[in-house]
Amino acid sequence: MNLNSILEEILIKRSQQKKKTSPLNYKERLFVLTKSMLTYYEGRAEKKYRKGFIDISKIKCVEIVKNDDGIIPCQNKYPFQVVHDANTLYIFAPSAQSRDRWVKKLKEEIKNNNNIMIKYHPKFWTDGSYQCCRQTEKLAPGCEKYNLFESSIRKALPPAPETKKRRPPPPIPPEEEENSEEIVVAMYDFQATEAHDLRLERGQEYIILEKNDVHWWRARDKYGWYCRNTNRSKAEQLLRTEDKEGGFMVRDSSQPGLYTVSLYTKFGGEGSSGFRHYHIKETTTSPKKYYLAEKHAFGSIPEIIEYHKHNAAGLVTRLRYPVSTKGKNAPTTAGFSYEKWEINPSELTFMRELGSGLFGVVRLGKWRAQYKVAIKAIREGAMCEEDFIEEAKVMMKLTHPKLVQLYGVCTQQKPIYIVTEFMERGCLLNFLRQRQGHFCRDVLLSMCQDVCEGMEYLERNSFIHRDLAARNCLVNEAGVVKVSDFGMARYVLDDQYTSSSGAKFPVKWCPPEVFNYSRFSSKSDVWSFGVLMWEIFTEGRMPFEKNTNYEVVTMVTRGHRLYRPKLASKYVYEVMLRCWQEKPEERPSFEDLLRTIDELVECEETFGR
Ligand code: ADP
Repeated sequence: MNLNSILEEILIKRSQQKKKTSPLNYKERLFVLTKSMLTYYEGRAEKKYRKGFIDISKIKCVEIVKNDDGIIPCQNKYPFQVVHDANTLYIFAPSAQSRDRWVKKLKEEIKNNNNIMIKYHPKFWTDGSYQCCRQTEKLAPGCEKYNLFESSIRKALPPAPETKKRRPPPPIPPEEEENSEEIVVAMYDFQATEAHDLRLERGQEYIILEKNDVHWWRARDKYGWYCRNTNRSKAEQLLRTEDKEGGFMVRDSSQPGLYTVSLYTKFGGEGSSGFRHYHIKETTTSPKKYYLAEKHAFGSIPEIIEYHKHNAAGLVTRLRYPVSTKGKNAPTTAGFSYEKWEINPSELTFMRELGSGLFGVVRLGKWRAQYKVAIKAIREGAMCEEDFIEEAKVMMKLTHPKLVQLYGVCTQQKPIYIVTEFMERGCLLNFLRQRQGHFCRDVLLSMCQDVCEGMEYLERNSFIHRDLAARNCLVNEAGVVKVSDFGMARYVLDDQYTSSSGAKFPVKWCPPEVFNYSRFSSKSDVWSFGVLMWEIFTEGRMPFEKNTNYEVVTMVTRGHRLYRPKLASKYVYEVMLRCWQEKPEERPSFEDLLRTIDELVECEETFGR
């Protein structure tokens, strides 16, 4: 045994499947955990047998893998994951105790890392997609909140609420022992007093989402969307009352033994709202599968629902918001951190207008009569507000000197407000254009460096910007450039902006995999960063000035790239070209880019390039 080792054990690792086509394999390895490394060996813990290692400081997440399907093609049946850099290592332990030990010790070792993920993928990446959310991009942001301090494994329950398992409505599969959700049964009725309280019915089951407080847990009812005795008109009435875009429920169909998904959209054409009722259909195959969209059939209803929560795939909208007959679910706006991110609008005062954008007018304001802030009032119909409000909780946690800080939101009124850090000199694009001819090269390079630092932080947190461009960066009093509007593209409701063929879609900033297949990743942000560097070094020119979006698609597909700006040195232009590699995997990461730009800053300063 290595004297420095914290844990040593023979476990099984799954190959990292870097290429989509390479077959998966499972190999027995001796794993050794020390303060600085997680190393695995073939046979003996000697350097010559070393097969791989992970630097502890690079680890972003360690967690068990939820595996409801139960099919694990090796003898060790207890998987956990170690996410580091852009990779996930899946390791299989021989017993639950062994897995607990590894996860616990690893979590202890990484707890001071500054790159811990905010969200992660609770299930496996297999066959080109994540089993939890079906996203097909390996670097896709996580779909579930990651809690470093608590394992998501089923815990021994505290004495008060007793646990019990019950079969959900057919054809929902029986629960597995490995199911990581904690289910409790209410011992008493509880009447909701606050809007975000969940009414409890004695004897009913509830799923614990989070134990954030000794007195209060966050919970939802078992299948928040299943309404047993609800007919079409009752369903419509409930959905209309909630009036939430993508509100849905699963109910018994009028035809016995079948189920219907009732779905509500506010934007069913010309602003009119509408209901859709979809039968859940069965395949004729054996075993039977169920589907709403024929191409996406699953073994159970919860799987269908989970899939369509993330993909409309033919439905009028995604299944965004479960509506239930059993009292209200905890609304998306009510979280444990409620007080922290909701700003009281009476504490805001409004001053001059700063500008306006896709979402609405931005004003300078003051919070508690003291701190200057920028307040964006969201124009009605411009934003998918519920989704944004949910995401705002995550965004609030993104804090970096080169990111425009989100301070909070006011969501209890219309229009809703987004309150952010105030940036005195406004948007970078105007800043560049207004001072054309007055920038020296090292100032331009240091602007690129600022943005790259902010983006490296986003990359480290698996957060994709999706619309990086000079118009979405802001400049403060000191001339520091910060990245703004990260992730906001997902909440725009204007088709002209969101559809890649729309007139407002930022084609000129997009790599081929985005304008062809909407495949966003940190590597697509890297491409946009190259274009942003070009905007900076041309002092705010429009990329492909004389060409239409359509022409740009053809040109870029054929390998054409933006020209070298006069102010860009050969080395600076090389960086841009690396960002515009056709294949995403051949582009550098922001971490690589930052290293290069830091070196350039030093060289260009030293040699006055
Ligand atoms: P949208 O996201 O709705 O498109 P923007 O974020 O682009 O809107 O903001 C519109 C304009 O308002 C910007 O171009 C800028 O001039 C001004 N602005 C936005 N946020 C700030 C801020 N935090 N500080 C200073 N000015 C801002």
